[in-house]
Amino acid sequence: MKADLHLHTTASDGRLEPKDIVSLAVKVGLDVIAITDHDTIGGITPALAAAEAFPSLMVMPGVEINTDVPHGEVHILGYFIDYTDQRLAVALHGLRDSRQGRAQQMIAKLSKLGMNIEMQRVLELAQGGSVGRPHVAQALFEKDYVSSEREAFDKYIGHDGPAYVERYKLLPVEAVKLIVDARGLPVLAHPADIGDLKELVPKLKAVGLIGIEVYYRDYSSDVIAGLLKIANQYDLIFTGGTDYHAFGDDSEVMIGGALAPAQSVERLLALADRRSLELLKQH
Ligand code: AMP
Ligand code: ZN
Ligand code: FE
Ligand code: FE
Repeated sequence: MKADLHLHTTASDGRLEPKDIVSLAVKVGLDVIAITDHDTIGGITPALAAAEAFPSLMVMPGVEINTDVPHGEVHILGYFIDYTDQRLAVALHGLRDSRQGRAQQMIAKLSKLGMNIEMQRVLELAQGGSVGRPHVAQALFEKDYVSSEREAFDKYIGHDGPAYVERYKLLPVEAVKLIVDARGLPVLAHPADIGDLKELVPKLKAVGLIGIEVYYRDYSSDVIAGLLKIANQYDLIFTGGTDYHAFGDDSEVMIGGALAPAQSVERLLALADRRSLELLKQH
């Protein structure tokens, strides 16, 4: 079983539409994918609809909620969230609104640094989806202020850059709770760049974390081994995926280039089943 459980679409900052991610997944021979857009569930319904033409492909509904911590970011994936849940929709809407205000603030900072990009253009690049720094980077690149989108991050909008603005501060614990409240399964995304994992993981586990993304993009075998140890220590499911955005640069790991073990997919499915049975009993 080949499963890539971390993919973005045009609903956030990915460059392929949900239906095109689905057909690409089939083309590269994947059996399971998860749509995990930043702070939005907008890609799920179109992806599920497109997948009806490919009965062998399973599409897991998901989300990636970005949160801020003092010296960086923590992203929480939520698998099998109830994407029809109204409270989740309202909470995610709030996060997306604050992303627009934040993009505007970054544009103001860039303007003070002598670079003029239009909010209108950034919104166009976001195509009605969740606005993110990659869209700002793209706008800077289009106007030749940088020679690559990577350079935009390195020089200006990376976490320590002069035009960086934090998102609305959602804490990692709050994101886990939000996912649990929407009956989803919270998993810690790309954990290798988090400094104080040993402190964070037990805190998140206490509020419902069930997994950790061990097989991410191009993690080395040493990094994977370290993360597996933590996963086992806290009895967490080890998931995996590429975080594919179809950015199209040479360094990007292609969809299907990092996989979740079949056994982990089965554990996720079993947990999701158990959760829906519990819900049935409650009603
Ligand atoms: P945002 O949620 O708007 O802060 O944007 C986060 C997204 O920006 C991530 O998911 C990455 O796709 C991208 N990103 C963050 N840091 C970098 C970086 N240093 N270089 C390139 N892309 C980055
Ligand atoms: Zn992204
Ligand atoms: Fe992420
Ligand atoms: Fe991601």
